[in-house]
This record gives sequence, C-alpha cells and structure tokens, in this order.
Amino acid sequence: MKVTLWGTRGSLATPGPETVRYGGNTSCVEVCGADGTVLVLDAGTGIRRLGARLGPEVGRVDVLLTHLHMDHIQGLGFFRPLDQSGQEVHIWGPPSTTLDLRARVSRYLSPPLFPVRLRELPSRLTLHDVPLAPEEIRIGGLRISAALVCHPGPTVGYRISEDGATMTYIPDHEPLLGAVRLSSSDWISGFDLAAHADLLIHDSQYSATQYPKHVGWGHSAIPHVLEFAARTGVKRLVTFHHDPRHDDAALDRLVNEARSSADLPFEILPGIEGACFEVGHATRNQGQTTLT
Ligand SMILES: [Zn+2]
Ligand SMILES: [Zn+2]
Repeated sequence: MKVTLWGTRGSLATPGPETVRYGGNTSCVEVCGADGTVLVLDAGTGIRRLGARLGPEVGRVDVLLTHLHMDHIQGLGFFRPLDQSGQEVHIWGPPSTTLDLRARVSRYLSPPLFPVRLRELPSRLTLHDVPLAPEEIRIGGLRISAALVCHPGPTVGYRISEDGATMTYIPDHEPLLGAVRLSSSDWISGFDLAAHADLLIHDSQYSATQYPKHVGWGHSAIPHVLEFAARTGVKRLVTFHHDPRHDDAALDRLVNEARSSADLPFEILPGIEGACFEVGHATRNQGQTTLT
C-alpha cells in the first residue's frame, strides 16, 4: 500500500513562511491499496487537496476518523467527493455511548457552524460507528482494526494491513499518562495496534521540556514516542501532529535530536506534508518520496 501525508499539523492549521516545509494543514493521511482502494485517515484541513485529486475512477472512498476534535474533522465540508452526485462515501468514527456518529458529526456540519447539512449532500453517504478490535473491517484488499487509545474523549487508532504488510496510525495519543516509563505490554495504550508495524505514524507533539506543562492533554513528547516505537517493535516511525509552535527549524532540530539520542532499532522519518511511503513486501525499506 501507498501512504501519503496530506496534513501533519496538530491542534490548529498553521500556515506561514515558517512552516512551509513541514506544512500547516491538520491531520489527513491517504492510504491506497494495491487494488486501488482509497482510505482517508482523518479529515483535517489537508483533506481538501486530497479530495481535489480524487477522480471519478475512485468508486468508493472511506474516511476513517480517529476522533471528533476539530483538527481532525474541519476539512470534511470541503472534501469534494461528498459534494459529487452519486459518489459513494463512508465515514467511520469511534463509537460513543451517547450519540451515533451521524449525530455527532452533524453538530459541526450544520448551521450555525457550517451552512450545509449532512443530509443535503448529493453523495451517497453512510456513517458507521467503527467496530473495535478484535473485530476487523475489510475494505477492498485492506484489513482494518481499530482500538481505543489514551486521549480525551472517545478516540481510536487504526491498524491497516495488506498482504502481510502493516501501517499504524495513532495521531493523538498519550501512552505515558500517569507513568514515568511504559509498563508491561498488556497495559500500554495502543500496543496491539502498533505491534511490529512496518510503518507507525504517531503523535509527536511536544519536546521533552514542553511535556510537563501538558500532562493529561492527550499528546506525547518525542522521547515517549521513541520508547513506544521501540517497545512495539516497529520498523519505521513517522513523527506527526506537530505542535503549532514548532516551525520548520524547530521540527528539524527535534528529529535530529531524536535520531542521535540513542541507538534506535527503527528508522525515524519526519512527518512532512506531501511525503509518500510505500509499505509492502516488494517495496519495504524504500525511502520516502514527495508529492509535487
Ligand atoms: Zn489532534
Ligand atoms: Zn485530539
């Protein structure tokens, strides 16, 4: 499968000359299966450009939301497939004990926050509360499992596999909440999602010095991410959900510090908007390319 980053910023879109290289759009990742299946992970502001690229040859599009914080849904109303007559679109999101997904997404996609209601969209739209592991869903040739992770409000991460290759997406995650070190594997939030993944895209919001002021906010400091990636045995780690305060120079510095901090058993790749990664047997260990 091919994985493309369309938005890597956390919390708030952060455009500007100082963020032009890593990008200012909020969370959105495209996963393309070998059979042409298209998954969209989160609907941050990055989804607008992705939607403009998806042509009519894509018969069905599935949007998998990790949770409903604004930085993960704000682009939905600007996702072109939703506005195309007859286009089949499915939106999946974490289950809640109070309201189904349609009711929760409609809070944003309705006046006064947005001029158009979900039911007025011309596409063939279906919303699903995503089943949680050990249940899986299968979309085209992709197998997907979702599990709740440590973050405020119902929030899931996704593990997506095809033909023995796996990518994991956990953009908002604080596995070290309340702990100094990660405990035994059974008790680590997100462990099963990430275990032995070929590619892990993970929350890397804070530096080590910023984290103490943000305990409980639902995000990770980079040293925590390195520990999580090492414990789960992933092959490649992509830093993601960059703090709006981190400009390109700061993000370069954080990635370089991480790379030199220890002899790590995985590769660290900076989460740069437009980067593409191949995940699969034939292409494993290939470097990243960049969209133009
Ligand atoms: Zn977020
Ligand atoms: Zn969040």
